[in-house]
Parts: sequence; structure tokens; C-alpha cells
Amino acid sequence: MRSRQRMFAAVMRLLLKCLRLGRRRRFKLVRQVEQLWHYGHLCLRSLFYNSFTDSDVVLDSLFEPVYWLVDHVTRWFGVVFVALVIGLTSSIVAIVYICLLPLILQTYTPAWICWHLAYGHWNLIMIVFHYYMAITTSPGHPPQAKNDLTGVSICRKCIAPKPARTHHCSICNRCVLKMDHHCPWLNNCVGHYNHRYFFSFCLFMTMGCIYCSISGWEMFRDAYAAIERMKLLEKERLQVAANQTYYQTPPPTFSFRQRAFHKSVVYLWVLCSSVALALGALTLWHAALITRGETSIERHINRKERQRLQKKGKVFRNPYSYGSWDNWKVFLGVDVPRHWLTRVLLPSPHLPHGTGLSWDLPPCVTEQRAPLLAI
Ligand SMILES: [Zn+2]
Ligand SMILES: [Zn+2]
Repeated sequence: MRSRQRMFAAVMRLLLKCLRLGRRRRFKLVRQVEQLWHYGHLCLRSLFYNSFTDSDVVLDSLFEPVYWLVDHVTRWFGVVFVALVIGLTSSIVAIVYICLLPLILQTYTPAWICWHLAYGHWNLIMIVFHYYMAITTSPGHPPQAKNDLTGVSICRKCIAPKPARTHHCSICNRCVLKMDHHCPWLNNCVGHYNHRYFFSFCLFMTMGCIYCSISGWEMFRDAYAAIERMKLLEKERLQVAANQTYYQTPPPTFSFRQRAFHKSVVYLWVLCSSVALALGALTLWHAALITRGETSIERHINRKERQRLQKKGKVFRNPYSYGSWDNWKVFLGVDVPRHWLTRVLLPSPHLPHGTGLSWDLPPCVTEQRAPLLAI
């Protein structure tokens, strides 16, 4: 308290001293203070000023720790997500083999048995093949030797040329050729070399879930009704048990095997129908993008570019779109009609057209649409 009073008195003395100074000296002092302030301000600006700094850069800098956390968590969660996909798919396959298949074999006609066996196994093989290929195939990266690379821009993170359609993945910390997105369910980037595997996996997984949901509908209804009955009987049994001695308690009406069967069927149907809805929507979205010859990232870039050119009275043309039908042929690698069977309906490890570094017209495209560049 005393020290505060002393400090206050010292400041007051200094102020009085200032006031007692002559007008000239007081002016000089103010000038000195002003100069000192300008010097400090200049020092600070010379250390931190950047003409490119705007509100976006400031926000990005502030959110940098959040981005870092998300990137690292996603990388770690990727392993958990892959284990989840494998675990859930295996559980559904196990339920189908243990619970549903014996029932189908006992009750269905030979024609229906053949259909279920053929379709079910074909769909399962397609899911397993495309998922395995999607997680193990590298999406493709620009080469390390930068001599013959015709980059259209420079990656700020890699400080290296970035070919057209290439984007930097902050989770993989690398540039990815024709990058679509980083998929935590694959723990891998979706790019030039594994885009087809990713889409085919989504498509066949959705088809498999729809197949299980439709063919298991009757069983689900029966199992759901049985579980409701089970709950009711259990309640009654407990009420009876509360009024009787231990030895007079009636035995459970459903065996463990029956309970497990009904609960498994309900689990199968609920999981399959939920995945069919969610993954079906995602697959449709990606199908629309493929039809337009765009990736998920290009969808946003092209939309902005379309709006920008529209204001100038110009029309935007996607330089990587060859027309809806040809876009699908290029995406699936269908060069001749028999490829629809061998490359689309059967597991096929064929490579996509081109290297992902330059974008020449693929050989399967029937006609070249006049100006391929955006105007
Ligand atoms: Zn990069
Ligand atoms: Zn990535």
C-alpha cells in the first residue's frame, strides 16, 4: 500500500516537473516521445508485416493448431475405421453364412438357391477385391525428380511443381495426383490410381447392403416380433418368479441359440439398411461427379470459376470432361465393349488411362469436343 502511494507521488512529481519545463523543452520532449513511438511501430511492422497478410491468413494461422490436431487424429483414426469396416463386414458375412444360408437352403426352390448363392458370392468377391485394392493402391504422387515435369503451379507445402488436377493432402503430407479426397474409411487418399477402386467399392457395398436388406426383410419382421414376444414373456416370467420359490420358477421360453439368431437378424437388417442409405447417397454423389468429369475438389473450384466467368458473360467448359458417356468409359477403363464384362463386372486390376501428370485425350473417347480448355 505504501509502495503504491510512493509510486503515485513519483509520477505526480514527474508531471509537475514536465509542466514546470519551458514551452520549448516541453515541445522537444513530446517530439522525442513521438519519434520513439514511430520507431517502435516501424520496428514491429518490419518484423511482422507481410503485404499478402489478410483476414484469411490470420484466421488460418489461428486455426493452425486445430488443423494439426484434426490431421493427426484423422491419420490415427484411419486405422480404427479400417478395422471397423473389416469387423462389421465380417460380422454380416458370418451372420449370413451361419443364420440365413441354412434357412435359404431348407426353404427356397433350387432356382432361388442358385440365384442367392451366385449373386451373394459375386457381390462379396467384388466388395473384398475393391476394398483391398482401394486401401493398398497408392493414389499416385508427382515424381521426386522434377526435371521433365510440366507443373502448372507450385505446392506451397512441398515447394515442388504441381501438375494439373494434383492437390496437396495435409493428412498424407504429400501431393496427390488427381486428388478426390482423403478417405478415413480407407486410411488412404483417393486419387488417380485408386479412384475406380474406391467408387466400385462404394457401389458394390451399397448393392450388397440393399441385397441383404431386401432378402432379409421377412426374416427381420419375424425376428423383431419374436424379440418383442421374448421381452413380454421374460417380464411375465420374472413376475411369476417373484411370487414363487426358486424350484418352481418356469424355464426360459427361448433358448440362447434362438435369442442369438433373432438378435443377429435384427442387427444385420438395421446395419445393412443404414449403410445402404448413407453409402448409397455418397455413391450417387460420386456418380454425378464422374458423369461431369470432376473430382470432389474440382467440383468446388469449377463452381467458383463458373460463377466468375458468368459475371463476365462467358461460359465455363470443364477441360477434363469428354461428355457423360465417355467420362464413364474413361473412368472405368472401358476401351472395347467386352471390357464392360471383364473390367467392370469382374474384378480387374487394370490401370487408369494416362499417368496423371498430363491429360491427353484417352483413346476410348469417340470424338474430340472442340475447345478442351476453359474459356
Ligand atoms: Zn504438396
Ligand atoms: Zn491423404
